[in-house]
Amino acid sequence: MATSTRLISRLTLVTGGGSGIGRAVCQRFASEGASVVVADIGEESAKDTLGTLPNDLSGQGHMVAVVDVSSKESVKRLFTSIQTHYFHPPSVCVNAAGITQDDFLLNMAEDQFDKVIQVNLKGSFLVTQAVAQALVACGAAKGSIITVGSIVGKVGNIGQANYTASKAGVEGLTRTSAKELSRFGIRCNCVLPGFISTAMTDKVPEKVISKIKSLVPLERMGEPAEVADVCAFLASDDSRYITGASIEVTGGLFIG
Ligand code: NAD
Repeated sequence: MATSTRLISRLTLVTGGGSGIGRAVCQRFASEGASVVVADIGEESAKDTLGTLPNDLSGQGHMVAVVDVSSKESVKRLFTSIQTHYFHPPSVCVNAAGITQDDFLLNMAEDQFDKVIQVNLKGSFLVTQAVAQALVACGAAKGSIITVGSIVGKVGNIGQANYTASKAGVEGLTRTSAKELSRFGIRCNCVLPGFISTAMTDKVPEKVISKIKSLVPLERMGEPAEVADVCAFLASDDSRYITGASIEVTGGLFIG
């Protein structure tokens, strides 16, 4: 558990905050003193996350927000409710909302492709754009936007044509955002997890998980907290000279 206060008085927005990596990011940010907006399509799971958070150190408090990141209207409502509650936009945003709908390329339905792109790629675009617009509009001096990509966006993965395309896409989105937004003091980076124990990987058959573990130099799956640690670094001023980067959190899977 972190003991640092490097995120004190930062307002942070975490999409997908109701589960897995997003929940661990909320917990890590709160433990470093941040106020956290736990945003998820699932209200109950977001409330469950909220219930695990220590009080923030600035007295701004945390909040739950229901959002469908794939809907522009829903993202707009999210930002209106944040501004109404805190009177300023988040200076840190983590795009962790994501889904899988796996199938082999030869069988994949158009709808399976569209849905995954809409949540993972378009959702990251809509939220990144909304945060950036709000920060620029209020003249904020700095911001940090972190998008959870995936190592499989780089190397491909059988059964995940839709998912790997979405995750390769968020790296391109992040690099372009980094170039366009640096003049406003906003940094944009990706974390690329390998295989992390969450509800998402619970769906993967045990024999595939065993195979994956045998390929990981550190010989195990990762924990959500280990991805959250890197997000906290990217959120903080400790990473002030890093933008447009993708940091792999894979236990060494697919080195090189
Ligand atoms: P998870 O299923 O535990 O959590 C995903 C969360 O996103 C859920 O709470 C879900 O309700 C929320 N969500 C889904 N659709 C949404 C929408 N339209 N709007 C708002 N919220 C929505 O999965 P996880 O493993 O914690 O994944 C988090 C992120 O990490 C995802 O982007 C995923 O692609 C990425 N990732 C995970 C792994 C892994 O091994 N678990 C590896 C690489 C990348």
